[in-house]
Amino acid sequence: MGTHMHQLATERNWAGNLAYQAAEVTYPTSVAELQELVANSPKVRALGSRHSFNDIADTPGTLVSLENLATDFHLDLEKMQVTVGAATRYGTLAAQLQQQELALHNLASLPHISIAGAVATGTHGSGDKNGNLATAVAALELVTADGSLIRLQRGDAEFAAAVVGLGALGIVTALTLDIQPTFNVAQHVFEQLPWTQVLQHFDAITAAGYSVSLFTDWSGETVAQAWVKRRPSADSEPWDHTKFYLGTPAVAAMHPLPGVDGSNCTEQLGVSGPWADRLAHFRMEFTPSKGEELQSEYLLPREHATEAIMALRGLSSVVTPLLFVSEIRTIAADQLWLSPSYERDSVALHFTWHRDQPAVEAVLPLIEEALAPFLARPHWGKLFHAGAAELAPLYPRFGDFIELADRMDAGGKFRNSFLERTVFNG
Ligand SMILES: Cc1cc2nc3c(=O)[nH]c(=O)nc-3n(C[C@H](O)[C@H](O)[C@H](O)COP(=O)(O)OP(=O)(O)OC[C@H]3O[C@@H](n4cnc5c(N)ncnc54)[C@H](O)[C@@H]3O)c2cc1C
Repeated sequence: MGTHMHQLATERNWAGNLAYQAAEVTYPTSVAELQELVANSPKVRALGSRHSFNDIADTPGTLVSLENLATDFHLDLEKMQVTVGAATRYGTLAAQLQQQELALHNLASLPHISIAGAVATGTHGSGDKNGNLATAVAALELVTADGSLIRLQRGDAEFAAAVVGLGALGIVTALTLDIQPTFNVAQHVFEQLPWTQVLQHFDAITAAGYSVSLFTDWSGETVAQAWVKRRPSADSEPWDHTKFYLGTPAVAAMHPLPGVDGSNCTEQLGVSGPWADRLAHFRMEFTPSKGEELQSEYLLPREHATEAIMALRGLSSVVTPLLFVSEIRTIAADQLWLSPSYERDSVALHFTWHRDQPAVEAVLPLIEEALAPFLARPHWGKLFHAGAAELAPLYPRFGDFIELADRMDAGGKFRNSFLERTVFNG
């Protein structure tokens, strides 16, 4: 057995709202060492870059970080795929790919997150035609409960269950992702779009770029900001960036959060440049978003977008006081069983909250009640109230996932209280 580092886990997640209950964090340096560790642990979970806001990554047993795992970076230009270690951060991979004039299809709002951790929760960016980040996964290697290393690829029976796997089926060591030739993006920010325009032209607005985000606190008569990321070479229809649904173009770099410096954000003002420096909102070298915050997000079929938005505007008096900002994005449907955009072209309604967890937890049931008629599915890595009984009917393959988890992990070593609450105890 090689030398791996142990660390006592009075460790916290990125937001600081969760102290992991695990007794230790372990850093294996080889796959063989990881296999032995998993085989011999009664309870074990993988830890990514700790950006989730709930206890999804936690375990009463051993937490495993793959940060020290020796992994290969392998490009296959014939298949247009790249294979990377699970702990690789999107920002690191994006820079490596851009150097070779290659690209991923999309990024989340921040580049700091690990690929395996992001994929495991169905993390997404925006864009009507862009599936979540997990849709780029062509294959993955994982260490299963008995310590064996298996490889699953698109088309394999368990593949569509394992990709957005919530860490319930095993510890992913490497992922193979689809890539494409590099492309340029020009990012335009517009301010103060009247809600009447946004609600009337919602489909046209989200189709106006490769990736579009709207930022609001739900109060008032305008949407504070629209971020439109266009591919100048592909989005060829005429584009007048001097106005956008009665919103006015920003004259300086903006931050989605009111009062925060726009220099922490990726290049704007319509300056075209590589996807790797534009598709995320936040720059790798700065703290993303606010830092001292909590987040929640709900994905629902996009045909309900305007009704759901109106429902949330109706809750503004209780929601707005707790908010830094909300973001509205769109995501294309996929086939990954527990993906919040499974078989539904989706709109995502996101909340960046003040770090007042009791107050946020009090308001989440109200939001979930308001969004229930639209069959909203919560983001697995953010704060939500629903349990397995509410979530099971929202996912056609929920029962199949449980059956598979029972088969692959009969002793429940990858189960934790999050999974008991939200998946297994329906
Ligand atoms: C500032 C900020 C901005 C965000 N923006 C977005 C956004 O734009 N879009 C969005 O969708 N989400 C966003 N998120 C949420 C974030 O993307 C998810 O919570 C994501 O899962 C975090 O990945 P991580 O690597 O930090 O994983 P962790 O939080 O450490 O773990 C998440 C899950 O992945 C599992 N996991 C990690 N590594 C492995 C592995 N090797 N094998 C198996 N399972 C593994 C863990 O066990 C756990 O279940 C944001 C979060 C923050 C803090």
